[in-house]
Amino acid sequence: MKITTAENDIQEILYSEETIKARVVELAKQLSVDYNGLDPLFVCVLKGASFFYADLCRLMSCRIFMDFIAVSSYESNAKSTGVVRIIKDLDKNITGKHVLIVEDIIDTGLTLAYLKDLLGARKPASVKTISLLQKDIPRPREIHPDYLGFRMGSQFVVGYGLDYSDYYRNLPYIGILKPETYS
Ligand code: 5GP
Repeated sequence: MKITTAENDIQEILYSEETIKARVVELAKQLSVDYNGLDPLFVCVLKGASFFYADLCRLMSCRIFMDFIAVSSYESNAKSTGVVRIIKDLDKNITGKHVLIVEDIIDTGLTLAYLKDLLGARKPASVKTISLLQKDIPRPREIHPDYLGFRMGSQFVVGYGLDYSDYYRNLPYIGILKPETYS
């Protein structure tokens, strides 16, 4: 029987637990200044952003509201099409609110662009974006998150909320999956 441990499937740790923590502290400090007095609504994009969101929110020193949205992107030939299906919508009306969309990773950028347009149409006071990771690749439509954790290469990563076939979300670090795991 094949023993399936993370160590068998992770090629390399890209961002350690300590490195992630230090960056999230910096981002929370910046957001606490920028959103002070605005009572912003932080929107978690499930499930990938869940760890990042929880750590970020608990480090905020100003008052925030929290809400969750779950999406699934339609794929064609294993490529993101940018057409997103809402699996769970926000619980509350966001009209007049300062909204921050919290995403795990920007690959093509189509998911975040779609969500920004969707929530922007609901007449919030503002809608900004933060992503923990952004892949350094050419895109059909360039996207610039307002806040970013790390700019990385084009590797497929797992851990700290990110999955491969729903595995590895619970890893405390972000690692590069061995290509033979998914080929
Ligand atoms: P995009 O619309 O930017 O192409 O795709 C964004 C979504 O694709 C992310 O929210 C994430 O769910 C998934 N994704 C893109 N790249 C990776 C990756 O390297 N690892 C994992 N686990 N998911 C990824």
